[in-house]
Amino acid sequence: MRKVPKGVTLVVGLGISGRAICRHLARAGVPFMVADTREAPPGLEDFRRAHPQAELHCGAFTALDMSEAEEIVVSPGVDLRTPGLAEWVGRRRDSGEPLVVGEIALFVRAARAPIAAITGSNAKSTVTTLLGEMAQAAGRRVAVGGNLGTPALDLLAEAPEAELYVLELSSFQLETTPRLGAETAAFLNLSEDHLDRHDDMAGYREAKLGIFRGARHAVVNAEDPMTWPLDPLPMERFTTQPPRAGEWGIAQLDGRDWLMHGDTALMAADELGVAGRHNQANALAALAMGTQLGFSLAAMCRVLRQFKGLPHRSELVAEVDGVRWVNDSKGTNVGATLAAIAGLGPTLPGHLVLLAGGQGKGADFSPLAEPLARYAREAILFGADADRIAVALQGRVTVTRVDDLAAAMVRARDIAEPGDCVLLSPACASLDQFSGYPARGEAFRRGVERFVKEAGHVD
Ligand code: ADP
Repeated sequence: MRKVPKGVTLVVGLGISGRAICRHLARAGVPFMVADTREAPPGLEDFRRAHPQAELHCGAFTALDMSEAEEIVVSPGVDLRTPGLAEWVGRRRDSGEPLVVGEIALFVRAARAPIAAITGSNAKSTVTTLLGEMAQAAGRRVAVGGNLGTPALDLLAEAPEAELYVLELSSFQLETTPRLGAETAAFLNLSEDHLDRHDDMAGYREAKLGIFRGARHAVVNAEDPMTWPLDPLPMERFTTQPPRAGEWGIAQLDGRDWLMHGDTALMAADELGVAGRHNQANALAALAMGTQLGFSLAAMCRVLRQFKGLPHRSELVAEVDGVRWVNDSKGTNVGATLAAIAGLGPTLPGHLVLLAGGQGKGADFSPLAEPLARYAREAILFGADADRIAVALQGRVTVTRVDDLAAAMVRARDIAEPGDCVLLSPACASLDQFSGYPARGEAFRRGVERFVKEAGHVD
């Protein structure tokens, strides 16, 4: 059996994060070796060029003796239950210093500036981007990355002068981080996702609660107790309801919705550059974190007015013949699609036409039935789990089954009426028919552009 040499750090997984871990260890002069279960991992050529001396094991972990490894650093894409790895996960945990860690644990050891961290099932990228832009507007030297954009370890090299790190963190990154020690940490929401990796909701939540380990301040969702830390911690809550004292929320003043902190009105909700209740919640979470970090309200509100949202997140592509076409391809789980429906539904003069389907990851689709019954003209379903979704919606909303997104769009164009909104928010992963959610969103955008041309105008 091949053996990890004594004193050598083992990097597990050669994806984007794995290669960032290798670069970091190489910069620090730490000897390392890499293991990946795939015979030809995608990053192989890059890796060979960058680290010609490093040993590489491709194949089952059970064929690798890890007993003498100095430390095992696991990429977030690798399941800790993988045979050959699982038996090392609990080792040294008793001494408070686990043998198996992840990239963020290495980041925490090396970072010399405070960390603001964001997790949740949905809205992480949006809030991370908002907070990063707020920091910049407030004149801070900020580096933004993690699960979004630049891997955290690369930020250390690319932005050594950073005064603040704003990190989006996934449950997989948090489960291998013994202590994050964030200046402020937000847990935005919890809904079913990734249960293939976390056994059940309790395990998924526990991984995400890791964001609060060693934190000085927490930002949580008042409407979702699952996001609240188990141990006492200075904590602020946001809600889309009128706030109680100290909370961040939404209240009506003179017939207009306002973003509020307690009873102080901060800015009118209709001044936000993004639409929907769910985005108001995201703005409030960013405001709570930014206030804790000492940013001025004026700088933060400037960003909130200018920020037009990220691509593929409730993004308006065009309005054709009075029908709005919205790309929410990043809606890859039921919670995200619920937020998009509840966020957009009440704002429409007409109805929603929902395009959904793909790989359902074993999710329960029944929570979609009630809001669709209220707001939707029709749900048009495509992809691998279309039938499962159809069963969950049966009798509550008109359902049409088609083969793919292109057919769904043609059907949507036929039935949508002026004032309606065609919303692509699939509640599913895209990998049965696309390379990922961006490709699905781009296909939607191209389809809408064709419709625009055929209509001969944009409204
Ligand atoms: P993440 O990085 O967590 O995937 P994103 O900011 O990329 O989050 O948004 C992903 C999806 O989550 C969007 O497509 C949108 O439908 C949904 N979403 C946005 N804001 C919220 C919210 N506050 N609560 C629930 N879902 C949301």
